[in-house]
Amino acid sequence: MASQETTHSFKAEITQLLDIITNSIYTNRDIFLRELISNASDAMDKVRFLSSKGTELLAPEKELRIDVACDKDAHKITITDSGIGMNAEELVANIGTIAHSGSAAFMKEAAEGGEQADSIIGRFGVGFYSVFMVAKNVVLTTRSATPGSKTIVWESTGTGEYSITDAGDEMDRGTKIEIELKESAFEFANPERLQSIVREHSNFVSFPIYVDGEQVNTQPALWREPKFQITKEQYADFYKFLTYDSKEPQDTLHINVDAPVQFNALLFIPDSESGQMFFNDPEAYGLDLYSRRVLIDRRHRELLPQYLGFIRGVVDTEDLPLNISRETLQENLLIGKIRTTITKQILSRLEKMAKDEAEKYTTLWKNHHRVFKLGYSDFMNRDRFAGLLRFNSSVHEDAEGLCSLEEYISRMKEGQKEIYYLSGNSREAIRLNPHGEIFRRKGIEVLYLYEPTDEFIMDSLREFKECKLVCAEQADLKKLGEFADAETAESAPEALSDDDAKNFDDLLKAIKDILGERVKDVRVSERLNDSPACLVSPDGSISSQMQKMMQYMAQ
Ligand code: ADP
Ligand code: MG
Repeated sequence: MASQETTHSFKAEITQLLDIITNSIYTNRDIFLRELISNASDAMDKVRFLSSKGTELLAPEKELRIDVACDKDAHKITITDSGIGMNAEELVANIGTIAHSGSAAFMKEAAEGGEQADSIIGRFGVGFYSVFMVAKNVVLTTRSATPGSKTIVWESTGTGEYSITDAGDEMDRGTKIEIELKESAFEFANPERLQSIVREHSNFVSFPIYVDGEQVNTQPALWREPKFQITKEQYADFYKFLTYDSKEPQDTLHINVDAPVQFNALLFIPDSESGQMFFNDPEAYGLDLYSRRVLIDRRHRELLPQYLGFIRGVVDTEDLPLNISRETLQENLLIGKIRTTITKQILSRLEKMAKDEAEKYTTLWKNHHRVFKLGYSDFMNRDRFAGLLRFNSSVHEDAEGLCSLEEYISRMKEGQKEIYYLSGNSREAIRLNPHGEIFRRKGIEVLYLYEPTDEFIMDSLREFKECKLVCAEQADLKKLGEFADAETAESAPEALSDDDAKNFDDLLKAIKDILGERVKDVRVSERLNDSPACLVSPDGSISSQMQKMMQYMAQ
């Protein structure tokens, strides 16, 4: 059969897009393969869907697989699938227009100054056109699965025009893309390189991917499988695969949500020591974002609030390529909804663990509390966050003891409405704080805060279960005075005789003269047993620890 060649021009906006792609230097060109493989996978999904419906197809027995082959000497890469293929009209419509959502977003960014162009290409790709980051010439041979179709060959150098040629019965079904690499991209014609790119981005594609005949993707996308079919070992294996951790995770969360957004997530809480290892860099958090089994972004930060940054895992959403990359705003909305749902689910899991497996939760707290404490800024989940906090307190024997605010409340004195705390570098330092004396005498529990963030937390929470959080330095002495002394407590200071009072007046005056403007007042105190004197903040002002911190920050 004589072949008929026709030449076509790309639409203006595609020429413009191709111009940017071919003439720019991109750091992550390897995503071209991800884009072509995901197209191949989509095309085979369609075949699988149609044949499950009983639709008659060309070459119905043909195995669904993707083959990547390369020829080092000829600087060529070939990607073949046995998918749905395209007829001539489809080819012109699909490859000749800019309907692809990623491309549209890319063009918008590029038009607005383009500084994020590289990152847009990396995250969402520009679909098929990504190939021109590495290709000097592309030959796409395709045959639609619709019975009676013919093979068609599409060819372009990515500069303005493409040609279409009829090729009769040359192939039986699917699409083959032959890439002739540009000199600057010769490095890609290398099986190891191709394997590693496939493993990085396309490892969970549901069809087998072969590079030079060897299958690369062997891990199933576990997050997409029904929960009841997955064993604990499979979860653990997946976790190890994901994190390179040699230990099992402390806990696993498998989330499947259909509304308000569709997504699957598989989340892990790393074990103690691994936790330490992962979080040397507090900025490196986030979950791996997949769109229909194809990696979009690693450690995508928007999927997780920073205070849950110790969680590792993957999120896969079908909604992403359809609505999302068109508008960055929509992308944020969708990702924001996923984050909200994930956050709530993680908090529920932590609450359950704290309740049913207290020891496990204590371990988790000890490993991850520094990161977790950043959660004081999550106003939406403030009460739940507060409920998960743990503190050392005056009731504990040593600095190792931990309790929740709820436990504190359960131990409160009759009539006590406030939760008291004191800050210091160590248990010893806090016990030397004269402000603690009256609490010891009255047998009132005081939480001990050792870390600078603790006071920020108390300040921003303000209360828990209708009990105010109050720094012991600012506690209302009158209120405290109303509580009876504890039986075991050190005895209260004796009341002053009139003579003493007169002597004190002279002393106070002398001290005031010496200190002058540096203090607001000098008074006789009833809070102290052993200490001769202490500094008190005027009502409503900040605690001494907070002052120290602010001085420190102002330096
Ligand atoms: P997207 O995949 O987001 O639609 P692309 O630019 O990657 O955008 O692809 C454009 C279209 O070209 C696809 O939607 C599909 O219809 C068609 N296409 C691309 N590659 C293939 C393929 N291997 N087999 C069949 N159709 C394909
Ligand atoms: Mg695509």
